[in-house]
Amino acid sequence: MKYSIVPVTPLMQNCSLIWCEETMKGAAVDPGGDLDAILGCAREKGIELEKILVTHGHVDHAGGVAELAEKQGLSIEGPQPEDLFWINDMPQQATVFGLSEARVFIPDRWLEDGDATTVGKVNLQVLHCPGHTPGHVAFFEGKSRIALVGDILFKGSIGRTDFPKSDHEMLLRSIREKLWPLGDDITFIPGHGPSSTFGEERSSNPFVAD
Ligand SMILES: [Zn+2]
Repeated sequence: MKYSIVPVTPLMQNCSLIWCEETMKGAAVDPGGDLDAILGCAREKGIELEKILVTHGHVDHAGGVAELAEKQGLSIEGPQPEDLFWINDMPQQATVFGLSEARVFIPDRWLEDGDATTVGKVNLQVLHCPGHTPGHVAFFEGKSRIALVGDILFKGSIGRTDFPKSDHEMLLRSIREKLWPLGDDITFIPGHGPSSTFGEERSSNPFVAD
């Protein structure tokens, strides 16, 4: 699996384009906004988008989902159903964060822990990792050893847990019990900021180091 990161919205959220090199079919993960930049990157790389994957229902990650799905005829997968209240709150979230208009959407497929999804011939594993939001999911691709973790874990930090239905202890458990077992060598793409590896965070992250 190949990937390219497109920072979107004034919150500089890492929308990722991921694609299968064999078929050149791809997915947009967390298209929070700035759809022209996302579609421009897809065109430049020669990717044929087939779906949208959503890690969680915060507006900087999901604010552009409805419009992108509609414009490009893409299916929407994720997040886990406990984030429905965030998705239904999309227009209000956009107002609070001063972002452009964002619409509510209905995923074509809600995801649960242990589910699998595909992009072309690439298989991704779904991990339910509650804590930052209750329905947050991560995506893991075993061959390229890459995980897309949204706002669960960052290089040197972890997700905020001062939102309704956030849970700090649960977030720590999600990181230690769902992400770490994937392996120290895994490169992860966080929702904001630079990438890192699980091994690096296990040795130096002040919140979740061993
Ligand atoms: Zn978030």
